[in-house]
Amino acid sequence: MRIILLGPPGAGKGTQAESIRRRWNIAYISTGDILRANVKTGTELGRSAKDYMAAGKLVPDEVIIAMMELRLQEPDAESGFLLDGFPRTVGQAEALDALLSRLGLKLDVVVELEVPDDVVVRRLSSRRVCRQCGEIYNTTAKPAKHGDVCDKCSGEVIQRDDDTEEVIRERLAVFHDQTAPLIEYYRDKGALLKVDATGAKDAVVELLEGSFGR
Ligand code: AMP
Repeated sequence: MRIILLGPPGAGKGTQAESIRRRWNIAYISTGDILRANVKTGTELGRSAKDYMAAGKLVPDEVIIAMMELRLQEPDAESGFLLDGFPRTVGQAEALDALLSRLGLKLDVVVELEVPDDVVVRRLSSRRVCRQCGEIYNTTAKPAKHGDVCDKCSGEVIQRDDDTEEVIRERLAVFHDQTAPLIEYYRDKGALLKVDATGAKDAVVELLEGSFGR
């Protein structure tokens, strides 16, 4: 199974992805996670992405496309993959199409997670994340039990630099401007499945069961 999760920041892509990955046992590929890991270890890729990320802007297409061409050809992606945060521009979607056709592969479905902007701002400004294992918390809905100490690994629970209100608004503007056109792009290809992402955690898995159960 090959899936793309599309939606604004804070739509719950990471959470839905976790349930899908567990259900179908496919590679979970998040461009945001890959970039953050590179920023943390100070690689050349990380250094070139850092300022864009801190400002809530997109990293240039050529950087992302080169990174994903390599990632999608790693062995764990052979049994299928779930893309979170890629593609984010029409240029990236066209590059992905070209790569898949070169590899003789097809996408099964593009899931669009719908969520209003005010819900995004509320969710992201209260989001916290473990610096070490990536576990996600929320200051109101799911606080860590012991302040800023992760329940799972005892790592430090922090607010991402780009989860401040000013940067969230910039990320939303970038989404509406550059990523929302992908909804049209995939609708025209007949691959789009729309899901209300304000509700249940396993909503996407339940919908996909119908078509991809097995
Ligand atoms: P995310 O965790 O998906 O919200 O991504 C965090 C940040 O990483 C974004 O705000 C961008 O700066 C950068 N980023 C992630 N994926 C992409 C992509 N496909 N194209 C360009 N920039 C990206």
